[in-house]
Amino acid sequence: MAKQHNPYDTVLAAVEDAAKILGYSEGEYERAKYPERETVVHFPVEMDDGSVRIFTGFRVQHSTARGPAKGGIRYHQNVNIDEVKALAAWMAFKVAIANIPYGGGKGGIIVDPFTLSDKELERMTRAYTMMIAPVIGPDKDIPAPDVGTTPETMAWMADEYAKINGYYNPAIVTGKPIEIGGSEGRVEATGRGVARALMNVLKKRDMHPEDITVAIQGMGNVGSITALTLSELGVKVVAVSDVSGGIYKESGLNIKDITEYLSQNRKNLLSGYEASGIKRITNEEILLLDVDVIVPAALENQIDETNAGDIKARIVLEAANGPTTPEADAILKDRGVIIVPDIFANSGGVIVSYFEWVQNRQGYYWSEKEVNERLMYKMDKNFEDLWALSKEKNITLREAAYCIALDRIVKAANKKGRLA
Ligand code: GLU
Repeated sequence: MAKQHNPYDTVLAAVEDAAKILGYSEGEYERAKYPERETVVHFPVEMDDGSVRIFTGFRVQHSTARGPAKGGIRYHQNVNIDEVKALAAWMAFKVAIANIPYGGGKGGIIVDPFTLSDKELERMTRAYTMMIAPVIGPDKDIPAPDVGTTPETMAWMADEYAKINGYYNPAIVTGKPIEIGGSEGRVEATGRGVARALMNVLKKRDMHPEDITVAIQGMGNVGSITALTLSELGVKVVAVSDVSGGIYKESGLNIKDITEYLSQNRKNLLSGYEASGIKRITNEEILLLDVDVIVPAALENQIDETNAGDIKARIVLEAANGPTTPEADAILKDRGVIIVPDIFANSGGVIVSYFEWVQNRQGYYWSEKEVNERLMYKMDKNFEDLWALSKEKNITLREAAYCIALDRIVKAANKKGRLA
């Protein structure tokens, strides 16, 4: 597969497309094409064997036109500035379509977290937090988990920031453990939102969950919870994968058993999972299976011009950020495949991050039922807006999502008297 695609080009293509549909002149939206600030940090960390290793990390704030920057921290060996810039921009558009009062940001460290011990991970996270402390803050830029980071990572960040700040303020990060100010339902929020997005599309198409087969690429937090929620809703999940490859069973996989196995140890992978009747497949094959829905829930650029023409699914549900390149997007559009775009489909995570931040600031905590009801209300309302605009203008759901988001960002910037 041609995986060299720069993800920031994917952002730019979507912005240009939306600006054209909205009839904007270049000067009106030019600002939205550039991040406000890019921070690069290098810092030493002591390893368990006493050696010292220098790590490189990033934090990018794409836009603060609608509120403080918001977005996750990624730990992955392939993290680079273009990826973080793209992820920060997607956050800005995601929070705008979600209609929550934030801008977009993202951070990351170039590291394979599976190669570090828990103690090394903690020291690295604390050192990184110290380095980015000047550019983050509860009213400035609020990090959260992303690929390779967890509630535990957020606990270390919050604690390190408290040392610098002089007191513990839980609103500095979201996605925290419940015990230190996390929200009920945050861990599950992205996956639950992804599943809800699919239910909404099925309703419009008069399709029923029990008749649907799904393949999910990626079994991190988002992929696992999406798989669990969909199987609880009666959907047949026939294939899942992670970095070690995938498994397939035509009659449907036992998702509960698989997720239990994976959660026993953070280093457990699907290659070590055994069950009768499962067939091993690759991460490339999983996207080409003869299923109704594919759910890319891993990294960017998984669907490009080399495989888009071979996809058999009629619905692509983007749980990952940026899984489809603009070339693939055009091919799938031509073939009439429905793409439920990332900036809407996976927005449940940041929506409940917002609820967590609101609860932290109020010092008043909601039940899981209240969190879920508010999340579902937002997913349904935002979907209706998207669907209506796509029908009205005869555009794709991605185009509709970017039109709504870009318009909100540009209008907010203009109200402040700034150039968009
Ligand atoms: N990393 C998640 C995302 O890509 C969540 C961000 C957040 O909760 O701030 O949407």
